[in-house]
Amino acid sequence: MANSLMTTYAPLPITFTKGKGVYLWDKSGKQYLDAVAGVAVCGLGHAHPVVADAIAEQAQTLVHTSNLYRIEHQETLSEKLCTLSGMDRVFFSNSGAEANEAAIKLARLYGKQQGIERPNIIVACGSFHGRTLATLSATGNRKVQAGFSPLVDGFVRVNYNDVDAIKTVAKTNSDVVAILVEPVQGEGGVIIPDADYLAQLRQICDDNHWLLMLDEIQTGVGRTGTWFAFQSSNIKPDVMTLAKALGNGVPIGACLASGKATHLFTPGTHGSTFGGNPLATRAALTVLEVLENEKIIDHVKTIGDYFITEFKHKLAGVKHVNSIRGSGLMIGIELENDCPELVAAASEEGLLINVTAGNTIRLLPPLIIDKEQADKVIQIVTNLILKK
Ligand SMILES: *Cc1c(COP(=O)(O)O)cnc(C)c1O
Repeated sequence: MANSLMTTYAPLPITFTKGKGVYLWDKSGKQYLDAVAGVAVCGLGHAHPVVADAIAEQAQTLVHTSNLYRIEHQETLSEKLCTLSGMDRVFFSNSGAEANEAAIKLARLYGKQQGIERPNIIVACGSFHGRTLATLSATGNRKVQAGFSPLVDGFVRVNYNDVDAIKTVAKTNSDVVAILVEPVQGEGGVIIPDADYLAQLRQICDDNHWLLMLDEIQTGVGRTGTWFAFQSSNIKPDVMTLAKALGNGVPIGACLASGKATHLFTPGTHGSTFGGNPLATRAALTVLEVLENEKIIDHVKTIGDYFITEFKHKLAGVKHVNSIRGSGLMIGIELENDCPELVAAASEEGLLINVTAGNTIRLLPPLIIDKEQADKVIQIVTNLILKK
C-alpha cells in the first residue's frame, strides 16, 4: 500500500490485523507466534481481556485532562509502583526516551545542588537509552548518533561490566554526579553483567555521592523474572526508568526516584502534556494488577530458565553458536556471524523473532507464554540455527 511515511523504519512486508495472547494474524489470515511482543512491550500478550476492558471503560469515561488537575489513576499508579519497587516518587512520561530525559535532568539538578556547574553522567558502551538528543548522546552506539552532532555534552563513557574503569573515572573527574546503565543491555545484544555488577555500582555511587540511575525500560515490569531487574541484586537505585511493558502497548513511561533524588523536581522544572493521563495510567494499573493476581512474574523465572536449559541442550556443540544467555524472558543467542536473514526466515515459519547487535537472536516473548508455545519457539529457532 502506498504511504507518505518518513523512512525511519524498514518494516517487513507483513501487516497484522489482530492478536490474541502470544499470537498475531496478518492480512492473509496467517498466524504467527510472537516472540518479540512489540519489543518487550506486550508482556501480557495481545488483546488481554482484562486490560482491553479497562482501556475501553476508561475511554468511555475520561481519556485526558492534563496535569493542571489531579489525576486519580496517576496517583494510585505512583503508589503501586513505589510499593513494588521501594522507590519514593514517580514522574510519568509517554515513552522510554522521555523517562530517561527526566532522569538526566534529575542528575543535572543534583549536580547543581552539589555546586557542580557542568555535571557529568557515566554511561556504558553498547548501551541504548533512546532517540531524543540527550538520550542518543547517552547511548553507546555510533550508528544511533551518526549525523546528529553536536551531541549533548556531559556524558563519560566506560565499558559495560567494567567496575575498574568507573573507579578510574572517579579518581580524575570531579564533575561526575551519576551513573546511568541498563541492568541487562537489551538492544546491545542481551548482555548480562557479572552478578555483583549492580552491587558494586551501588557501592561506588555511595562512596562518591553519585546517583545510581538504572534504565529498566526493557528489563522492568517482570521481564527478567522479578518486578524490576535490580531486585535480584539486593540494592536499590536512586533513579529508575520504565516504559515498554508498563502499559502493555498503551504509551507510558515513568521515572522513579528515591532518597536524595526524590525532591529535586519542583513545580515548573519538568512536565508533559500527556504524561500520566487517565487512560495510560488506568492501563498500566491494570497491567500491574494482572501481573500480580495471575502470579506471572514467578512463571517468567521458570519458563525463562526452561528456554535456556533447552537451547543449551539442543545447541550443545554447535560451532557457530557463540553463546546462549538469558535473564527471565530476555533471551539472546549469539552466533558467530551476522544473521539478519533469520528474521524473515522465522516469519516464513510463522514465528516472530528479533536480531540485534548484528549476530544475536533476541527473544522477548510475552510473559504469559506457556511451555507448549515455548517448545514451538525453541524448535523453530533451533532448526533455523542448525540450517545456517
Ligand atoms: C526501548 C528502550 C528505550 C527507549 O524507549 P522509547 O519508548 O523507544 O523512547 C530506552 N532504553 C532502553 C533500555 C530501551 O530498551
